[in-house]
Amino acid sequence: MADVSSDEYVQNGVTRRILLAGPRSFCAGVERAIEIVERALESRGAPVYVRKQIVHNVSVVDDLAGRGAVFVEELEEVPDGSTVVFSAHGVSPAVREEAEERGLDVIDGTCPLVAKVHAKARRYAARGDTVVLIGHAGHEEVEGTLGEAPESMVLVQTAEEVRELSMADPQVSYLTQTTLGVDETAEVVDALRERFPLLYEPPSEDICYATTNRQNALKAIIPEADLVLVVGSANSSNSVRLVELSRYAGTPAELIDTAEDIRPEWLEGVRTIGLTGGASAPPALVEGVVSALSAHGPVTVEEREIARETVYFDLPSAVRGDAPRPADGLSS
Ligand code: SF4
Repeated sequence: MADVSSDEYVQNGVTRRILLAGPRSFCAGVERAIEIVERALESRGAPVYVRKQIVHNVSVVDDLAGRGAVFVEELEEVPDGSTVVFSAHGVSPAVREEAEERGLDVIDGTCPLVAKVHAKARRYAARGDTVVLIGHAGHEEVEGTLGEAPESMVLVQTAEEVRELSMADPQVSYLTQTTLGVDETAEVVDALRERFPLLYEPPSEDICYATTNRQNALKAIIPEADLVLVVGSANSSNSVRLVELSRYAGTPAELIDTAEDIRPEWLEGVRTIGLTGGASAPPALVEGVVSALSAHGPVTVEEREIARETVYFDLPSAVRGDAPRPADGLSS
């Protein structure tokens, strides 16, 4: 962490309060994806290729790279006969087909909750719907989902874009990226309902439990915080949403990869710091922020847990090391 000794609280020995949002940090899908790469390295040996970042976190990627994982952007960078892991964000059918045609040893790290959205996209498109996907252009998860039925899907990011949609198809359904802001997405869905009165509503939310819990946990501490620190990487959608949520509520917020990124000026006059981590941020990095802050002045640490997460996803049989079960899936 940067030197914070010029901070008035440090100089005066005033105790700062750290409010830890709970749940925070790793979700079940991220833990599963990381474990898949670790087990592949153990069972196949290095190198194990990973298409795209396994999860959107610099520290996780650097750690796995140091142990023999090789991160590539596209399959053409993977040598014939190699093992390749697909990231937690999922891939389009075109990528799966390419891997199959090349005979690569594929291990699928796609989060089961992303795979569920893919299945819905296929189902809705097959029955003739125009499927509106609410999400961020260019995000890997969005590219994978759109790839399921490109000719039947339309991507929108805002309510404004919904109002600009020109299609007249009465049979419209919608899906969302799993890591969106809950409140902003509700606005886009309202615009869809207005624009398409016969809109088919999916039976369950696509924004995942981990995204929703982390946003609700942060909302519970924002009113007491002078500053919010979110541990996460800049390309982590759900981490960025946490920063936006806090700023929208009027509390300054900063996204940090590690404690090293904290700038002393952020802390000036700050008595209570709200602290959380995005779903791809290792818990140890959040602990590192607590240690860094406490090393530079007295702090108290309080945890506010609004929900207990018990979700666990089975590993794919390719790395499980035991007899394959009938179906990989969700346990809780
Ligand atoms: Fe899965 Fe949600 Fe975690 Fe993404 S954030 S990996 S969808 S559990």
